[in-house]
Parts: sequence; C-alpha cells; structure tokens
Amino acid sequence: MNCPKCGQEMRQGFLFSTKDGAFSFADEVPGVFQNAKHAAGFVQVTPLKPNHRVRIEAYCCESCRLIQFQY
Ligand SMILES: [Zn+2]
Repeated sequence: MNCPKCGQEMRQGFLFSTKDGAFSFADEVPGVFQNAKHAAGFVQVTPLKPNHRVRIEAYCCESCRLIQFQY
C-alpha cells in the first residue's frame, strides 16, 4: 500500500493498544460513564478483548506520520 500523502510504500505492521480496551470511532469521544456504543456515529473498529492487546493490521508512513488501517 502506498502513502496517500507522499506516495511512498508504507510499512506493514500492526497498530496495537495497551492490555485492555478496544478501538472505536464516533463523532465525539463519549464520557467514561456513557456506553460508547450509544455515541453518535459509533463504529466498532476492534472488539473488546479484556487482558489482550487490541490489534489491527495497519500500514505506516513514518515520513508523514500517517497510519492507515481497514477495520
Ligand atoms: Zn507518506
């Protein structure tokens, strides 16, 4: 995959997290006491995996500091 900004080949790897949690996307970040799934425009990027590192295959361009992934 090539970087959409500079056009150079991107390095394949994984975007991963600390040992709890999951990645999500929404219009705004919900408060900690709010159920994230009810946030406007909620999209689940990775499932919740307690005691595991959440990971998603990703491509990185270090020159542009850009990471791209498909969920
Ligand atoms: Zn780039």
